[in-house]
Amino acid sequence: NWEQILLNLKEEHEISDISFKTWLLPLKPYSFKNNTVTIIVPEQTFLAYVKRRYSLLMKVAISEFLGVECEIEFKLEDQLAEANLSTEPQLIEKNNTSVSPDVIQSANLNPKYTFDTFVVGSNNNLAHAAALAVAESPGEIYNPLFIYGGVGLGKTHLMHAIAHFILKNTPTSKILYVSSETFTNELIDAIRNKNNITTTEFREKYRNNDVLLIDDIQFIIGKESTQEEFFHTFNTLYESKKQIIISSDKPPKEIETLEERLRSRFEWGLTVDIQSPDYETRMAILQKKEELEGYNIDNEVIKYIATNIKSNIRELEGALTKIVALSRLNKCDITLELAEEALKDIISPGAQREVTPDLIIQVVSDHFGLAPLDISSQKRNKEIVYPRQIVMYLCRNMTATPLQAIGRYLGGRDHTTVIHGADKITADLLKDETLKNTIEILKKKINPQ
Ligand code: ADP
Ligand code: MG
Repeated sequence: NWEQILLNLKEEHEISDISFKTWLLPLKPYSFKNNTVTIIVPEQTFLAYVKRRYSLLMKVAISEFLGVECEIEFKLEDQLAEANLSTEPQLIEKNNTSVSPDVIQSANLNPKYTFDTFVVGSNNNLAHAAALAVAESPGEIYNPLFIYGGVGLGKTHLMHAIAHFILKNTPTSKILYVSSETFTNELIDAIRNKNNITTTEFREKYRNNDVLLIDDIQFIIGKESTQEEFFHTFNTLYESKKQIIISSDKPPKEIETLEERLRSRFEWGLTVDIQSPDYETRMAILQKKEELEGYNIDNEVIKYIATNIKSNIRELEGALTKIVALSRLNKCDITLELAEEALKDIISPGAQREVTPDLIIQVVSDHFGLAPLDISSQKRNKEIVYPRQIVMYLCRNMTATPLQAIGRYLGGRDHTTVIHGADKITADLLKDETLKNTIEILKKKINPQ
C-alpha cells in the first residue's frame, strides 16, 4: 500500500524525517490508469520542486511495488476531487550525525536554531517549506530565497536552520551568516583599512562562499556604497550558482530607497513571508520550549501566556523565561497568579510600545549578545561598559527620563556618570562611522515606527 511505498522510499534513500514529513507525507495517491499513477500535491508553490526532486524516485519505487513500469504525474489538490486513500505512516527515527562546534561557530550560527526546534504553524508553513527546499538543494532552485516578516517571528531562526541542515549534509560547504549591519561595518572598516583589513580581503570573505545568508537587509537601505558592494557580491555568487538567502522586515517591493537593480534581483528567486502565529501555534511553541528547557509548567499558565502575548515569538519566549525566573527567585510554584504578576508590565492591552529605559536596555543588550542584567551590573570590562554608555546616550536622546532616573535604571549610577557616558558616545559619533551605523540600527530597532 501507499504507506509502505513511502516508507521504503524514505529508508532506501535515507530521506530525513523532516524532508519526509514536509514533502512525501502530504502526497496522496489519486488514481492509476493506463500505467500512469496520479499523485496529489497539496500546495501550488512547491509542485515544481516536488516533481523535480522526487518524481524519479517515486517512479522507481512505485514501478517496483506494482511490478510494472509506470509513469508518475503530480497534480494539485484543487484540480481533482478528494482522494480516498489517505494514510499516516509512522516516522522512523534516524540517528543524527553532528557537525563540529567550530564549524558552527565560524559560520556564526546559533546551535539552538535548527529545523528540529522550529515549530511549523499556519503562519510560517510556506516559509518553512521554502527554507527546507533551499537547504536540500542549495543554489539549485530558489535563488535567492527572500524571507520577510515582522520582528521576532522566526526569520533568523529559519536562516540558521537552513545553514545547519546544509552543514550536516555537506560538512565541507562554505557557509557564512551575517547581519547586514556586520556586512556594512566590515565594509566601512575595509575601506578605511581599519584592523588591516583590505577591500580585497573583504570581497574574498563574502564572495568565496557556497551559501551566504544576510539577515535584516533593511539596514543597508539608503547606504549607497554598501548597496553597491552588495550588488557585486550578489552577482558574483549568483553567477556561480551559489545560494543567497536574505531576510527583511518587508517584501522587496515595499522597501523604499532600495535600488531598483537590487530589488529586481531579490525578486528573481522565491519570496516568502512569516506572519504572526495563531493561538495553536503559540501554544505549540511554548510547549516545545518547555520541553527543550525541561520545564514542567501547568497548562493553564501556558494557556494564559498564549492568550495574552500575541504578536511576537521572542516576547512569548521571554514571558515564559520571566515566569520561570521569578518562581526560582521567590522559591515558589508557578501558578496563574505568579504568571499574572510576572507579566503585568508586558500585558497592557492595546497599548503602543513606549520607548522606556527598560526597552532600550533590552534592545541594546540583545544587540550585543549580553544579558540585560550585565548592563545594570557593576562590571567594568570594555565589552559591557561601551554598550552601557550607548544605553545612556539613547536614554538621553530617545526618552524624557530625568538623568537621576536613568542612573537608577542602570544599577544606581549617579547622574554625572550618565552625562559622561552619553557625552562619550556623542563625541565618538563624530569620528566613528561604524558606531554611527550601529546607533542608527539600534534606534530603528527601538522605534521601528
Ligand atoms: P526574527 O529574526 O524574525 O526577528 P527570530 O528568528 O530571532 O525572529 O525569533 C525570535 C525567537 O523566537 C527565537 O528565540 C526563535 O527561536 C523563536 N522562534 C521563532 N519562530 C519559532 C518557531 N516557529 N518555533 C520555535 N521557536 C521560534
Ligand atoms: Mg532576526
